[in-house]
Amino acid sequence: MKHYDIGIIGGGISGIMCAYELVKHKPDLEICIFEKGASILNRRCPLNENQSEKCLKCPTCAIMEGFGGCGSFSDGKYNFTTEFGGWLNEYISNEEVMVLIEYMDKILVEFGATTKRFTTKTPRARELGKIALQNDLHLLQAEVKHLGTENNLKIMTNIYNYLKEKLSIRHHTEIRDISVRNSKYILSGLGEEFSCDYLISAVGRAGSEWFAEQCKKLKINLSNNQIDLGVRVELPSEIFSHITDEVYEAKLHYYTKKYNDLVKTFCMNPRGHVVTENTAGVLTVNGHSYSDESLKSDNTNFALLVCNKFTSPFNEPLKYGKYIATLSNMLGDGVIVQRFGDLVKGRRTNEKRMMKSFTTPTLQSANAGDLGLVLPKRHLDNIIEMIYALDNIARGTANYDTLLYGVEVKFYSARPELNNRLETACPNFYAIGDGAGITRSLSQAAASGIYTARNILEKLSFK
Ligand SMILES: Cc1cc2nc3c(=O)[nH]c(=O)nc-3n(C[C@H](O)[C@H](O)[C@H](O)COP(=O)(O)OP(=O)(O)OC[C@H]3O[C@@H](n4cnc5c(N)ncnc54)[C@H](O)[C@@H]3O)c2cc1C
Repeated sequence: MKHYDIGIIGGGISGIMCAYELVKHKPDLEICIFEKGASILNRRCPLNENQSEKCLKCPTCAIMEGFGGCGSFSDGKYNFTTEFGGWLNEYISNEEVMVLIEYMDKILVEFGATTKRFTTKTPRARELGKIALQNDLHLLQAEVKHLGTENNLKIMTNIYNYLKEKLSIRHHTEIRDISVRNSKYILSGLGEEFSCDYLISAVGRAGSEWFAEQCKKLKINLSNNQIDLGVRVELPSEIFSHITDEVYEAKLHYYTKKYNDLVKTFCMNPRGHVVTENTAGVLTVNGHSYSDESLKSDNTNFALLVCNKFTSPFNEPLKYGKYIATLSNMLGDGVIVQRFGDLVKGRRTNEKRMMKSFTTPTLQSANAGDLGLVLPKRHLDNIIEMIYALDNIARGTANYDTLLYGVEVKFYSARPELNNRLETACPNFYAIGDGAGITRSLSQAAASGIYTARNILEKLSFK
């Protein structure tokens, strides 16, 4: 059985940044990243070649899994904030999180990232924040860096080329079981076993259910009862350009008058594209945008998510989200697209009505349908109310031809009990990134990886 000093399960941004920090400070360590998916050089999704193809539901999803993680084909919006994108500040101070994010950014720049940032602090952005507030919309404060889908991939490839010379990266190696033997962690893959002294779980949302099962087996306590569910909105880019030109991505929060539920804008992609995402066989929507002018579309898209926190006796938010997404897949044979005007009128958008739309969908594989038959009434009311609220600050958001794709779900991974070093109840076993339910963004996932590497380096220095 091959033994490593440190094993990292998952080659997403959290695992990658953790590995980077470890090899940088202690190059003699034997480290292995175990990654279920392909190398960054070989990740190919059939949908990337032709967006009108239906998702083939590959056993390993090239979009979500592989070196670089689920962020590899995203447009790489790195947020510099603790206001959203995770809860690392529940373990370490806001200041410390920001220092880690800035450090991560230096690494990205070293591998080719731009130094340009957008901020909500300019006079114009402050004015936008004021107008939003006057309409009961709350613009969260952040700096954001947009790498662009094509550049993000290049940077991940550069990091891959650097790391592969310094540690082992085992692709197509899904870890299926974790056990403890003689104070070492035994990792079982398909027909092979590995052992390590220190173990880091960095499995992302794709691996979170599996990780939760392992935690239960290892008697690590878990908690989670939250899900964000909604739609992706697509409209002509001019409608939001006064906002996106200034802050790039506006994170706007709103409490609906009808239910007092939190609805938020999320993952805004100026002149971007709507894409499908395969979450454990269920098709949901997402969006991204390129930085290259020639690859941009005429539309802007963003998610509108209703935040749900369930209370006792219900404790299966993952199942709830998947159930609704499955219903949408069943009715729409995949992702559904509907015109806002049709939704408000309570009628289905069909092919004929879609043809009349002045807004051309960027996701051509979506089928015209009726989200009113998919989303619970409470969600529909919340989404409609939020669209009218947004119309007050970006006139045209509530146009008849605003397109709504469904459904978009943001699953929250179950969170293992961790100490403030992100270590579980099992000594030398750490959990980082989105799969541990402590982050929900590239920046904070990366920061959690760097932080954990430093904690392990400190432990090793006392040995
Ligand atoms: C389409 C899309 C666009 C996004 N855009 C943005 C954005 O612009 N800005 C932003 O901040 N965030 C964005 N996000 C979210 C962001 O990508 C995540 O927050 C981030 O990637 C989390 O990093 P991670 O390392 O925790 O997990 P991941 O990136 O999910 O990586 C986890 C890795 O672990 C591997 N794995 C899982 N289980 C196992 C196992 N048992 N054995 C071996 N390997 C395993 C997976 O294959 C995967 O590669 C986006 C997400 C998606 C899907």
